[in-house]
Amino acid sequence: MNRVVFDPGHGGVDPGAVSGTALEKDISLVIALAAADKLAARDDFYIEVTRETDIDRNLELGLEDRVAFSDRHNADLFISVHCNAMAPGSSANGFEVFHYYDSQAGRPAATEVFKAIDRKIPEIAPRSVKEAGFYVIKHTQAPAILVECGFLTSDQDRFNLESPAFQKKYGEAIAAGILQYFGV
Ligand SMILES: [Zn+2]
Repeated sequence: MNRVVFDPGHGGVDPGAVSGTALEKDISLVIALAAADKLAARDDFYIEVTRETDIDRNLELGLEDRVAFSDRHNADLFISVHCNAMAPGSSANGFEVFHYYDSQAGRPAATEVFKAIDRKIPEIAPRSVKEAGFYVIKHTQAPAILVECGFLTSDQDRFNLESPAFQKKYGEAIAAGILQYFGV
């Protein structure tokens, strides 16, 4: 049984990136749930999600809680889902997938998910597989990756990321990468 914990970024009092009507917490939730549903339908995956709703609007799901959740469920892979934003005046677009610095465990997972998104989501430009020290990918016991699905500050990325059909397709692309990573 392959044990995967999905972590939709932000939630509740913390919207994450905001651009026009687009809230990172909402988009990352739908994408992560679509990926989770795709894998949960298989009998060789055990799936948990750190939050399945927006959570209470007055609350915040802390980074420590997300890590503890993953560890408690003995995840084989932890995957946090986010959307990016640039400061006003600068521009960027595209998706990128992070693993922790020099993580031999995280790099293959990040690479497979990156390749799957690149193949299945031509609407959003590939940036690269990157290393970073984000709290959740640093501290989980499981190999861990963080997907930045696109830039809400890019008109084209936001147009796509706000579409419910596109969010579902994006989640399925992430799931396809996870299948590749587990070799199933
Ligand atoms: Zn975020």
